[in-house]
Parts: sequence; structure tokens; C-alpha cells
Amino acid sequence: MKKEHVLSLMGLPHIEDSVMTRMGNITRPLSIGHGSGNKMSLRTVKDLSLNGKKVFLRLDLNVPIKNGVIKDETRIIEALPTIKYILEKTNKVAIASHLGRPDGETDLKYSLEPVGKRLAELLDREVVFLSDYTSEPYDQVLNQLSPNQVILLENLRFNPGETKNEPNFCRLLAQGIDFYVNDAFGTAHRAHASTFGVADLLSPEQRAAGFLIEKEVSALDGVLKRPEPPFTVIMGGAKVSDKIAVILSLINQCNNLIIGGAMAYTFLKYKGFKVGKSRVEEDKMHLVESIYRNAEARKVRILLPEDHGAAAAFEEGTKRVEVEGRDIPGDLMGLDIGPKTLQSYTQTIQASRTVFWNGPMGVFEWPAFAAGTLGIAHAVAGCSGKTVVGGGDSVAAVTQAGVAKKIFHVSTGGGASLEYLEGTQLPGLKVLQK
Ligand code: AMP
Repeated sequence: MKKEHVLSLMGLPHIEDSVMTRMGNITRPLSIGHGSGNKMSLRTVKDLSLNGKKVFLRLDLNVPIKNGVIKDETRIIEALPTIKYILEKTNKVAIASHLGRPDGETDLKYSLEPVGKRLAELLDREVVFLSDYTSEPYDQVLNQLSPNQVILLENLRFNPGETKNEPNFCRLLAQGIDFYVNDAFGTAHRAHASTFGVADLLSPEQRAAGFLIEKEVSALDGVLKRPEPPFTVIMGGAKVSDKIAVILSLINQCNNLIIGGAMAYTFLKYKGFKVGKSRVEEDKMHLVESIYRNAEARKVRILLPEDHGAAAAFEEGTKRVEVEGRDIPGDLMGLDIGPKTLQSYTQTIQASRTVFWNGPMGVFEWPAFAAGTLGIAHAVAGCSGKTVVGGGDSVAAVTQAGVAKKIFHVSTGGGASLEYLEGTQLPGLKVLQK
């Protein structure tokens, strides 16, 4: 008989007060160092003796949901290896995640319930969905789970204590659990309750990274530590100011720096070219200057667009006008790289042994200006070296281009991967170190 995939909804059973204080005395302060870079030796889930123990599992199940329908389940699928590994050892698992930004209030638009239903199907077990786990300790439900059940807590960010890393909320989540496993790389740069505070309440031997974090860190380390040359960094997106730290960090390692997206026009203007009505950060010219200074000192080649896909106005449906040459007429704005630029960027990318790409080459959300970004996705996929793509838009672009499987590593964490590459110690990783 075919098993049904059930999502059962429940509040918590009434539990005696005595269990509330059980975790009271295991607080252990943990200091986060600064400036020493990310020399990571993480404890991983394989280092834990999980048999029959109670586990708090922090995942990144922040998937796009519209009217209760999951639009892209990649993050759920990617979380499965760690969930399944733990479930082989113990069924007492409480899965937790955030979804969107409900700002500390219950907003059912951001409920994890649809995720619970999908998890039940994918895991072929009953997901006990705890919509309220704050009034009574949820570890008592863990004790009562039958072998075919697993717990999913409602969106952590419905509680203001999550993003504020409030001690009470941390204690509530940590209460009664034996092990903490974090596989949410995308939020590792945040010191939230579930990414930092709960782990900090346990001893180092009780906390570990899941397989996804392990994979992310090892792939990003491949870019940071002695990447095989030629190493090409492709930076796109809206603003130089958002990417300056990561550019300056990677300039220490790379041979070529390819610039696209709106930030390219700030570079072109700095170099004395005409940029028309393109988006330019006039007050950030000093950042571009510091990039050039560092690039010259390290003999890094900076590649800028040689032609453009332009338009008269910044509005969806606007007509694409090809602009040959670097200068853009005064009545137009650059919204994509042109075909000649794509060709020369592609040559550099495909001759590379290591590639890191973050940020679109244009307003790729509008089909008329997506060619440059999708072309770069194909170029990166066609490179036989080690290729890493990080950041929401570039990840979306490799997926849209249908080439994600040809990329060595597609990072799930946009902000976190950039901060990691900047050399910042991420609190969520620091707390998982051996
Ligand atoms: P970021 O989050 O910094 O990677 O920036 C991504 C955003 O930059 C996307 O929403 C793009 O539409 C936008 N963008 C890329 N190129 C341009 C451009 N030439 N002009 C205006 N916006 C752009």
C-alpha cells in the first residue's frame, strides 16, 4: 500500500515546568575573532555520535513561495543529504529555518507549512509541523516522535528573538537538545539565534556543520587559497560600493577582473568614456581608483565593456539599441553588455583555470537585456577549469541558461559567500570550528 505523505499540524502538549530549566547551566561564552581570515576546520555532522540523540537542525529552506506554491525547491533538495544522514542515526530531529523577512511577526504569507508538505513527500515520512513552539519546550515532542516522524518548526523569524539573537529565544531553541547542526550557509554571516546563539549555548563537541556548509566552504576556499591561474573574477550587478570589499580581496589572487552590470559605467566614466544616462555612482570614483591602484600593483588586467545594449529609458519593455564602441550617446543608458564584449569576455573566461562570478552583466530580468548575462553563464559553464558562481542573480542566470550542472560549484549563499571571500569571519561558521 502506498504510504501517504502527511504533514500534521500541532501545538505543543502540556509539559511539566521542571523541564523548562534543564538547559540553564550550559552557557559557554564564545568570542568571535576579527581579521584573521577564514582558516576553517569545521566539525561536521560526521564527527557527531548522533545515535538516538535529539538534534536541532538549522537549514536554509527559504524558498520562493507564491500563494502557497513553492516556485523553486532547490534549497529543499540541497538540504536532503544532511537531513537523511541524520535520520539514519536518529529520528529525534527538529528542523528549523527562516523564510523571507516577516520582521519578528507572524505573517502566514511566510509560513513554512508548504515546505513541510514537500519535505514529507521527499523524505517519505510524516512531518510534524509545530506552528507554536514557544509556549512549551518542543524537545518533549521530540521524545514522543514515532520512528516515521520528524519535526519542522514554523518560520524562526516569526519571533523577534531570532534576528536579535535574544538569550531567551536561544535558550528556548536549545532546550533539551543534544546536538546542533547548521547547514544554512546563506545565513552564516548573521549572528542570529538559530545560526549562532543556540550553538553558543552548547559545547564545541555538540555542534557541527552539515554537508552543504562543508561543500560551500571547500569550494570557496578553492577560490581563495592558491587558485590555479589564470584566475578570472567576473563582477557585475548594481553598485561598486556593494562589491568593493570582495573585489579588493580577490584582486590579491586573480589575474583578470571582468566588470559588467551597472557598475561598469562608473568604471567607464572613471576612465574618461561617455556613459550617457547610464547609472553611475558619482561619489564612488575613489573606490574605482583604489581598485585600479591595487590592480596595477598586482598586474591584474581589468576588462570593461567594449559595446553596449542600451535604451532611452529605464522601464520594462523599453527597446534595446545596440551601441558600438565604449562611448554611449547622451540620450541612452547602458543596460547590458554588447555582443563584442561578450565575445571578448568569453575568450578570457574560457582560457581560465579558475573562475568566480558574482552579479549580472545587465538588467537580465528584462529579456531584451538578458543576453549578456546568459552569455556569461554559458561561457562560465564552458570553462574547463574550476568555476564558482555566487550571488542570487548569477545563480538565477545559470539556472535560467540551463547550465547549473556544468558549474563546479553554485553557491547557495549570496551575501555569505561574498563576506567569506572578503575574509570576514562568519559568526555561523566560527561557532562550528573544531
Ligand atoms: P546586485 O544585487 O548588486 O548583484 O545587482 C543586481 C541588479 O543590478 C539586478 O537587479 C540588475 O537588474 C541590476 N543591473 C544590472 N545591470 C544594470 C544596469 N546596466 N543598469 C541598471 N541596473 C542594472
